[in-house]
Amino acid sequence: MAEAAVDFTGIVVGRQDYREHDALVRFLTQQYGFKTFIARGLKRPKAKLAGVTLPFTLGDYVGVVRPTGLSQLRTAKGTHLFRAPMSDIIANAYATYIFDLIRMAFPEGQAIPKWYTTGKNVLLGLDRGLDPAVLANIIEIQLLPAFGVAPQLRVCAICGRDDRPMDYSEAAGGLICDRHWAQDPHRFHAGAKTIYYMRRFSVVNIAQIQSIKINNTTKAELRTILDQIYSDTVGAYPRSKRFIDSLGQWNQDFKPLAPRTEPGKEASDDDDQ
Ligand SMILES: [Zn+2]
Repeated sequence: MAEAAVDFTGIVVGRQDYREHDALVRFLTQQYGFKTFIARGLKRPKAKLAGVTLPFTLGDYVGVVRPTGLSQLRTAKGTHLFRAPMSDIIANAYATYIFDLIRMAFPEGQAIPKWYTTGKNVLLGLDRGLDPAVLANIIEIQLLPAFGVAPQLRVCAICGRDDRPMDYSEAAGGLICDRHWAQDPHRFHAGAKTIYYMRRFSVVNIAQIQSIKINNTTKAELRTILDQIYSDTVGAYPRSKRFIDSLGQWNQDFKPLAPRTEPGKEASDDDDQ
């Protein structure tokens, strides 16, 4: 029995060669979450699908969507290629990392319309010049609940107050106010601005950010703290993050946080290919 093709909307998040003339195109779709499609004949000269399946294209497509295994891509009805990830290697690296991280949080085929919209807002944000590192931090913080880590970032995790200086404590599972700082020698010793942005990022809607400027010291602290949280409690470290780490751009003005006596756990590599 022939399978019916359906319309779907999606963002191309990856493409790789498959067999002699075909390719696999991975989408974050609005309707079905992440789905991998076989695009037959894509590598043949003048293949129509080649131009509409470049990474970070958003479009309306037609294909046979299967509940498991490879789906099949037929045609595109209308597409838009985001400019920043195509023209800027840094924006490309962060966009790749952001979608890799979302993919680690949700199995293929699980509908995640909210994260489809968020992913689209990330690409729109990159195209209007938002800082890719900041967008990555926002996604990292907002993804924590999906990874089963839901840090208390609203009020003090111990006493519930929100009117005192705060620091981050992994032991307490979130922010703690200065009245309890003595209880956790491993608290992060994060600056007030860093804590401010962690709280703000946990609730911000990327579509509503017009511009955001964060100094390099605060950016370095955010990077260090989120790396620590991901290493200690999430364990997700996509391959694309290694490239970002190797860029080293973020740490030009890096001032190390207070030393932590407990050795950090090794980051594990959960990349699936
Ligand atoms: Zn407190």
